[in-house]
Amino acid sequence: MNKFTLLNLQYPYDALEPYIDSKTMEIHHQKHHQAYIDKLNAALEKYPEFFEKSIEDILKDLNSVPEDVRTAVRNHGGGHYNHLLFWNFLRPFDPLKNLPSGKINEAINSFFGNFESFKEKFKNTGLNQFGSGWVWLVKDKDELKIISTPNQDSPISQNLYPLLGIDVWEHAYYLKYQNRRMDYLGACFNVINWDEVEKRFLENK
Ligand code: MN
Repeated sequence: MNKFTLLNLQYPYDALEPYIDSKTMEIHHQKHHQAYIDKLNAALEKYPEFFEKSIEDILKDLNSVPEDVRTAVRNHGGGHYNHLLFWNFLRPFDPLKNLPSGKINEAINSFFGNFESFKEKFKNTGLNQFGSGWVWLVKDKDELKIISTPNQDSPISQNLYPLLGIDVWEHAYYLKYQNRRMDYLGACFNVINWDEVEKRFLENK
């Protein structure tokens, strides 16, 4: 039986400076993400058969999770999965890779008009998510959509495939940006891993 565990990031905590500061990354990964994992493991202790599944498969079918732990799995399992994605949606700033290219660029232009319109809509959706949550670019069958989710609800539980997601919980930005969520969202656009976004776009059929 393998409980869920915290993976290392693919880059150092200070790699996203100055856009996302080192202290925020360290606390976010070591404390917040770890806490979701610990509480997910605790919730599933009574039902160890779930440790055989991937977190993605569990979240895709929350109704199969016993009712007494379903809310805990939705919240903490969602927290685990969303953060797993999030760390890979980010990478150090690279001026040559700071915009989408290839097929994902074509798809963004086709659904949102152009990159600037996409970026404005994405940032505004994140800004307008009331309270804690996430802003996402998702694939809904053959369409791209921008949505937000509250708390740690994951698009995967709504049968939507996440291509990009940015955490808009205050813990993701408060140390550096305080209440300025829009500044944080704008800064994130310097460290988005568009190769990862395109990889997910191409692998989801
Ligand atoms: Mn978070």
